[in-house]
Amino acid sequence: MMDFTRRNLVMTAGGVLAATAVGGPVWANPDRKMGYAIVGLGGYGLGIIIPQFKYCQHSKLVALVSGDPVKARKVAGEYGVPEANIYDYKNYDRIKDNPDIDIVYICLPVSMHAEYTIRGAKAGKHVLCEKPMAISSAECESMIAACKQAGKKLMIGYRCHFEPFNLEARRLARSGAIGKLRYFRSEHGYTTGGNNWRVKKAMSGGGSLMDIGIYALQAARYMTGEEPISVYAKETTDRSDPRFRDVEDMIEFQLEFPSGVIGSCMSMYSANRNQFLLMGDKGRIEMEPATGYQGQKLWVGDGRKNEITAPPNASANQFAGQLDHMAQSVMQDRTPIVPGEEGLRDIRIIEAVYRSAREHKRIALK
Ligand code: NAD
Repeated sequence: MMDFTRRNLVMTAGGVLAATAVGGPVWANPDRKMGYAIVGLGGYGLGIIIPQFKYCQHSKLVALVSGDPVKARKVAGEYGVPEANIYDYKNYDRIKDNPDIDIVYICLPVSMHAEYTIRGAKAGKHVLCEKPMAISSAECESMIAACKQAGKKLMIGYRCHFEPFNLEARRLARSGAIGKLRYFRSEHGYTTGGNNWRVKKAMSGGGSLMDIGIYALQAARYMTGEEPISVYAKETTDRSDPRFRDVEDMIEFQLEFPSGVIGSCMSMYSANRNQFLLMGDKGRIEMEPATGYQGQKLWVGDGRKNEITAPPNASANQFAGQLDHMAQSVMQDRTPIVPGEEGLRDIRIIEAVYRSAREHKRIALK
């Protein structure tokens, strides 16, 4: 498991988060932590996110939303959540009467993100929603509109923006450490067992690209600091494999950036890979693993001779950083660094990637 110490916590708050805050804080009550309701007690919500609250400075777990009352009561007992703060998917809207809850964190299958985001906003809560934002750009737009109408923040769970090795790679890439950037390459994939909502298109919106290839796409954008102007994609899927009757396995896509930089990404559900390479005219930056939960490795220069083992805030916890950033965005009335619009941009590009693969042609992006 992860090794997060008290020092990490201080580093996180003082480093990554402080770096994103500009101007003076407008704390109503600086001692009050923002209360989170975790919506969906699955692998990510329960297994990864809930254990992170102990490393947070500005966030606390106050409520659970689950379809399984026995599990919810057990988790509530373990984490000191009062039984009165357990909700299910039917009575979820009653969170509006619970002032303990400031933020709902949507950790549900992708097809449920829009509904639970919109109901959360209508109940007067701020929303942190997992990636990918939704199964279509139209849904993303309605989520943004609902949060805007309710006057609530909307952030997407792009945790790599709080991960110190990714931040250092981005700083190096943009500071000219490898000269003029020429191309970005990334392969992201894992071997899926199938047999869950991820391989059902109605629930996932798509295959590997929606789930894991999105990390390559996000990184292409945050590493280069540019928005792609076109995409070209090719899909390769063995449709006789029962895992891939409904969704794609491999999809390779090229992104054309305004500066001439090429982004070249491979997404797959049938091989384990998690890396990226930024190639400049004076050297390269590599990460492998690049976007995992832990254990990131980063090299800069020529090949893998020069490993960066201690980037600024090296021990910062990306999950606590993300939770606390959302909490601080609410407390200080600031737009989160990865708002709904950022999730929407990725989904629009993903839709273009799928279209390109279907129609075998380059798709220009607006
Ligand atoms: P999961 O299948 O483990 O959990 C899904 C949860 O939703 C379960 O508690 C399940 O009971 C509940 N649920 C409610 N209605 C359901 C239905 N009709 N069908 C299936 N489940 C239903 O999935 P997960 O891995 O926890 O993923 C949840 C979200 O988190 C997804 O959006 C996923 O993309 C995201 N995620 C993000 C990361 C990350 O690193 N940021 C990692 C894993 C998952």
